[in-house]
Amino acid sequence: MEQRIEIEPIIGPRADVALMAGYYSPQIEVDVRLNTNEAPEPPPPDFLSRLQERLTEIDFNRYPEREANQLRQAIAKHHGVALNQVYCANGSNEILQSILLAYGGDGRFAAVFEPTYALHSHIAQVTGTSVVSGVRNSDFLIELTEFDRVVHECEVQSGSRPAVTFLCSPNNPTGRLEPFETITGVLERSSGLVIVDEAYGQFAPRSAIDLLAAHRNLLVVRTFSKTWSLAALRLGYVIADSEIIDALWRVTLPYHLDAIKQVAGELALEFESEMNDRVERIVAERVRLVGELKKLPLRVIPSDANFILFQLNGGDAKGAWQSLVDRSVLVRDISSLPRLAGFLRVTIGTSEENDLFLQALRDVLA
Ligand SMILES: *Cc1c(COP(=O)(O)O)cnc(C)c1O
Repeated sequence: MEQRIEIEPIIGPRADVALMAGYYSPQIEVDVRLNTNEAPEPPPPDFLSRLQERLTEIDFNRYPEREANQLRQAIAKHHGVALNQVYCANGSNEILQSILLAYGGDGRFAAVFEPTYALHSHIAQVTGTSVVSGVRNSDFLIELTEFDRVVHECEVQSGSRPAVTFLCSPNNPTGRLEPFETITGVLERSSGLVIVDEAYGQFAPRSAIDLLAAHRNLLVVRTFSKTWSLAALRLGYVIADSEIIDALWRVTLPYHLDAIKQVAGELALEFESEMNDRVERIVAERVRLVGELKKLPLRVIPSDANFILFQLNGGDAKGAWQSLVDRSVLVRDISSLPRLAGFLRVTIGTSEENDLFLQALRDVLA
């Protein structure tokens, strides 16, 4: 008689995925939206009209150019590096995912230093990479002794060193720029890759791009989402040694970068001086906002980015966040992240938006 084999149906996701919380920031309908570090100004009208022209030239029935050569060439020229040192993807988050697909995975470790961008450890976990965490000092900077401790802990736990170390400079959500000595110290002590996430690079006076020539294990990740006013476009890139870039291509889906994005990114780079002007305006507003916040009963963390981290004195951050929402101002409540009890993060907006935020915050603290 024929024997029937019972096959267990696959009804759930991978066990570790089932336990994960998705990444999410609440979007609430408000007048003043200062919670996701977007640019407050759109790109220049001239960019938009020229983009419309360029879109008419696309062969929409054909697959896009697979290696995005023109866009990558424009980025390479922008930074003074070679074409084979540049790789693009759909937002810098996808860049990070590609790096971890190629260099992370089962049995490998990624090091992060909290508090930092939550997606670094989230993407590591999604790709099956284990996470080892260190902590920043009380000024939210990384101490090399702490880096050594994390590497040692990783070795004791697993017999190997981190395959990837995440730095974020300026760091989200603290705004702090990591000193060059720290970045070079980490690069020299690492046997694996060191990713410097520079999503806010143009707001800061220095970039780790200057260290690329001297360090083969350095990857600098940038995005069009913040300084270029193109969060809707979903475009990011990484600059690194050509061998690393080759490895990223191996884990890339065919035609991953659509033709619209390739054209728009290349065109955006022609508007660099307009971008720098916007960055200058935001930095001026940041200086003004820090000055005003310091007059209030708050601890204000110095920032090299387009946002400011502040702590309410003995404060109920959740309550203050809700009171701001009640006044139609949305900031980021990061008070449940490691070591950030009592803290909120505000994105620099237009000067009108910043005034509305300040007025609301003064009301809430009164
Ligand atoms: C905003 C941000 C990004 C941007 O991600 P995209 O996918 O390019 O929009 C990356 N890293 C950090 C630290 C950020 O804050």
